[in-house]
Amino acid sequence: MPLSEFDIIARYFAQATPGRDDVVLGIGDDAAVIDPPAGQQLAVVIDTLVAGVHFPLETDPYDIGWKALAVNLSDLAAMGAEPAWLTLALTLEQSDEQWLAGFSRGLSELAGQYGLQLVGGDTTRGSLTVTVQVAGYLPPGQALTRQGAAPGEEIWVSGTLGDAALGLRLVQGGLEAGDSAAEQLCGRLNRPQPRLSLGIALRGMASSCIDISDGLLADLGHVCAAADCGAALQYADLPLSSAARDLIAADSGLGDLPLIGGDDYELCFTAPADRHTDIQVLAGQLDCPLTRIGRIEVEPGIRCLEQDGSPRSVTGQGYRHFNESS
Ligand code: ADP
Ligand code: MG
Repeated sequence: MPLSEFDIIARYFAQATPGRDDVVLGIGDDAAVIDPPAGQQLAVVIDTLVAGVHFPLETDPYDIGWKALAVNLSDLAAMGAEPAWLTLALTLEQSDEQWLAGFSRGLSELAGQYGLQLVGGDTTRGSLTVTVQVAGYLPPGQALTRQGAAPGEEIWVSGTLGDAALGLRLVQGGLEAGDSAAEQLCGRLNRPQPRLSLGIALRGMASSCIDISDGLLADLGHVCAAADCGAALQYADLPLSSAARDLIAADSGLGDLPLIGGDDYELCFTAPADRHTDIQVLAGQLDCPLTRIGRIEVEPGIRCLEQDGSPRSVTGQGYRHFNESS
């Protein structure tokens, strides 16, 4: 017999995550009740993953559970917030127990890594859609925002760029790579690791911060627009994984993906040049690669320069759900 909505909640979600002291009432009542730490501000984020839009239909349910939470944690990381608890709205075509077990494991494994509690949600029937909302805490006035970049400041990114976009091409069959490269790139697509400790460490150090979900150019574009300035990037300085480097070396047509590919979930931030050494030290402390990729400039727009100083012409743009023409 198919599971009822209440069986699904009891079996796969009620015990899926660790309990927290700030949660007075979790799953099971009409609302969750939270007792936030005195004097902290709340940062709240929500993101929806729609089957066939944000992930291919045949994606491993574990990866869907992981990623639905990871993309939200990446937004909190970009704000410098410390995540605390989440809610989940799940729309399912049917109560497929194998799917639910995998999904719940992916979600609970990432939640467990950061001690986050699932405190409530909603379970409905329809086309597969996963919405996760996460709240986190911030010391007053310390949120990292998209505003605040200034001409002359350095632009940094964490990790490597373009891996997830290459992973997506591998999954979709438009690209081939060796087993270990494919595993690495698909791992970056399906199980992004949110840069939470970096975001917290950047409080008071970065002048602006954003996570890269729609592609570097698109997301850095928001930072420039917010500060009414522009940016110059050195293409040769963009950090690439060895797998991405090899694929791009073999096919220069893939060379724009580090600039425009989505789903990287790295942080892009700006900081005054006199924080350069502090940021390098931080990279070592957190064991998180941080690379300076360019500078903020007065002139609006983003210019990407080749090694000889000539401008690189970039085709395409970051992902948009609603294009200007549609
Ligand atoms: P109501 O009808 O009052 O909105 P529901 O029957 O939808 O309550 O949900 C019962 C309880 O289970 C609530 O506490 C709700 O937050 C929780 N819940 C429902 N679906 C989920 C889910 N997918 N994940 C976590 N908690 C859920
Ligand atoms: Mg109710």
